[in-house]
Amino acid sequence: MEPYTDEMHEIFREQFRRFCIKEIAPLVDEAERTQTFPRHLFPLMGRMGYLCVRYPEELGGAGVDKITEVILREELSRVCQGIASSWSGHSHLATYPIYRLGTEEQIQKYLVPAIKGDKIGSFALTEPDAGSDTKSLRAVAIKQDNGYLLRGAKTFITNAPIADFFVVAAYIDKSLGYHGIGLFLVDAKTPGLTVHKMDKEGIRSSDTGEVSFDDCLVGTDALLGGKEGNFNLLMETLSEGRVGVAANMVGVAQAAYEAALRYAKERHQFGQPIGKFQAISHLLANMVTQIRAARLMVFAAARLIDQGKPCILEASTCKLFASEVAVQAARDAIQIHGGYGIMSEFPVFRYLRDALVYTIGEGTSEIQRNIIAKQIGL
Ligand SMILES: Cc1cc2nc3c(=O)[nH]c(=O)nc-3n(C[C@H](O)[C@H](O)[C@H](O)COP(=O)(O)OP(=O)(O)OC[C@H]3O[C@@H](n4cnc5c(N)ncnc54)[C@H](O)[C@@H]3O)c2cc1C
Repeated sequence: MEPYTDEMHEIFREQFRRFCIKEIAPLVDEAERTQTFPRHLFPLMGRMGYLCVRYPEELGGAGVDKITEVILREELSRVCQGIASSWSGHSHLATYPIYRLGTEEQIQKYLVPAIKGDKIGSFALTEPDAGSDTKSLRAVAIKQDNGYLLRGAKTFITNAPIADFFVVAAYIDKSLGYHGIGLFLVDAKTPGLTVHKMDKEGIRSSDTGEVSFDDCLVGTDALLGGKEGNFNLLMETLSEGRVGVAANMVGVAQAAYEAALRYAKERHQFGQPIGKFQAISHLLANMVTQIRAARLMVFAAARLIDQGKPCILEASTCKLFASEVAVQAARDAIQIHGGYGIMSEFPVFRYLRDALVYTIGEGTSEIQRNIIAKQIGL
């Protein structure tokens, strides 16, 4: 048993691993090839209690701790990071703000069906000219007598092509600086809202899109929590999300390691398994060491969240470390596979493409270093 986990956590890991092998692994090749998320997984996972797992049972959630959620993320990413990304965009980014600050009506309209997998959520913050620099958003919500007019464009938005609703960040009042940013819950069918699906090289089994808001009229009830000024919640959502993303990257690294270990035992050159060459065995020894360290960092940060303690430093350090460990593990797994590492027949190149996404997505490695530097007083 790993430190930080108990028997129930390990039972959950085994059960969920079996679910992933039975229900998800057979879908991965097709989903990657067509760049399409297998949509039926949302209601299926919702029925099994595997979506939005942290929210309380009275809302239909599983009410589990953060440690259980990071175990789920690791196992899901071990099978397919693209599918795990869509899960994360829905189960955390698009629903956490509603859980934290939504009105009763918003919770019933969006969160409860999202937990069941009946509605798919998408979190729309990034814009063509505002990525790392979140505060430079251009999207605006112009006050009307009967609501707000949303105007702007978002890009790289996970789940956008399949979403039923969006959580959208836009300036309500620029004179208040970033405290003038509000979050809006917007139905995908709102007139003026259009989505354009994007082609990509990583996490291909997750749908990603650009979203335009061309004077979309939304009611006052679309404002999250009925309160203008949600920047702090936005930051909280991203910070907690980083611990989750780090767990995803442990899963990708673990998958790369397992594939490489298997191959190193099976592949013979010069009359012996290649794993007997020190050059190869040391790569694998390094991988297992780095993965264990990354997993412990994730568990330690998850434990802080479970204890209700701040974890900005821990979230950024584990996101930075785990994503870079996953990239290195995937690169080494390709090297160990030789020419087969480049072939689509083996999954290791996919692991590299998927890991690279997360040295960028949800805060680049450079931004994590900036946050860490600030946390240590620089
Ligand atoms: C597949 C995918 C899915 C995504 N899903 C979503 C989603 O669902 N919702 C959403 O809102 N966003 C999403 N994103 C957006 C993602 O969060 C951004 O791509 C990320 O925050 C970086 O922004 P950017 O791409 O505009 O890069 P930029 O901010 O333009 O950065 C470019 C480069 O400059 C560096 N840089 C920028 N500022 C600094 C600085 N101050 N110090 C040092 N270096 C700096 C960066 O680290 C990077 O190397 C997704 C992205 C991808 C690739």
